[in-house]
Amino acid sequence: MSKRPFVTKEKLEEIIKDYPTPFHLYDEKGIRENAKAVKEAFAWNKGFREYFAVKATPNPFLINILKEYGCGTDCSSMTELMLSEAMGFKGEEIMFSSNDTPPEEFAYANKIGATINLDDFTHIQCLEETLGSIPETISCRYNPGGLFSISNSIMDNPGDAKYGFTKEQLFEGFKILKEKGAKRFGIHSFLASNTVTNDYYPTLAAQLFELVVELKKETGCDIKFINLSGGVGIPYRPDQEGNDIRVIGEGVRKVYEEILIPAGLGDVAIYTEMGRFMMGPYGALVTTAIHEKHTYKEYIGVDACAVNLMRPAMYGAYHHITVMGKEDAKEDCTYDVTGSLCENNDKFAIDRKLPKIDMGDILFIHDAGAHGFAMGYNYNGKLKSAEILLKEDGSYKLIRRAETPKDYFATFDCFDIFDKIPFDEV
Ligand SMILES: *Cc1c(COP(=O)(O)O)cnc(C)c1O
Repeated sequence: MSKRPFVTKEKLEEIIKDYPTPFHLYDEKGIRENAKAVKEAFAWNKGFREYFAVKATPNPFLINILKEYGCGTDCSSMTELMLSEAMGFKGEEIMFSSNDTPPEEFAYANKIGATINLDDFTHIQCLEETLGSIPETISCRYNPGGLFSISNSIMDNPGDAKYGFTKEQLFEGFKILKEKGAKRFGIHSFLASNTVTNDYYPTLAAQLFELVVELKKETGCDIKFINLSGGVGIPYRPDQEGNDIRVIGEGVRKVYEEILIPAGLGDVAIYTEMGRFMMGPYGALVTTAIHEKHTYKEYIGVDACAVNLMRPAMYGAYHHITVMGKEDAKEDCTYDVTGSLCENNDKFAIDRKLPKIDMGDILFIHDAGAHGFAMGYNYNGKLKSAEILLKEDGSYKLIRRAETPKDYFATFDCFDIFDKIPFDEV
């Protein structure tokens, strides 16, 4: 089995003439088709909204595409809120699902009318002290503890996660929030990451729906929305079968009709906060092979490194690699594909079977559209690379320029050293 790049070698060669590697390339066509499918899958729910998790791919050009399909934004920090505001997202189109939240971020989120999703019981007091009152619309993040399983198979370990209210805290919190003036309530829960099964959302939804029925009975709160958050995964490995969002949407509908409608809660809106599923497959890291090294192993050195895509170094994550122009060649070499950081975990692949790679070959590292560029950093003085959008008509557009040494040194710009850096010599 193989994964096919969304771009041809010829097109990449054309782009590289304008913008040298490494860069992240995004596929407008794929983003649009997927966003449309998400919208259709949940069209049965009147209030449905996908709040794109900005942290996955914080690029306004890409988020603007999603906006056309009715998506809002899910923010985790001040700058993500600022970006949403600047892009013209209005109050209810912005979700603020943060944790360990600095009070000034609550204040700003409230100022722009974002829906605040509290991560902890103690944040009720912090929010009230910060704002002087509790907003009329409020959401709380729930963590049931224990293990999260789907048909006896353990998916993740919420009991070990730092997020959310316990069940007791949630009931108590709703009562307190109501006393303090909250009128419209929501709950949120994120219990498993990168799930490659159509059962994750329906299983989570059923648990949350039961909980909401109980919450409503016990607290009398008016529950307006249930936020299934992120966690819908993508098939990074070529032998995995991807999720089918239509099946997922229908699965959620089924439990909605079984649990919420009979309880008189048929007007509750379903929200999602997907990041990876919205962008992951539609972005790639494009890099060039610049060195080969034959020691105790065979190494291919590329011009990208872990600062461009951290997931393999950070979690040993698999990212498929296509050597452009050799899609159908025999994979009869075994390589470690490395970047140039002075860290031995700076490897995009270890013991990977690939076709013979020649210097100058272009490597397409798949599924880097979410948590790729976004996790970038500047270790070893590396500069962040450009982001480019491949448009539906085959043309391409720079949507974030690469960093230059001036950007790297910008935070010294009020010291004399900045004036001595030889910017013109490189
Ligand atoms: C990271 C995150 C998301 C997005 O998760 P994906 O797995 O990328 O879909 C959504 N909501 C919250 C609160 C998050 O932290």
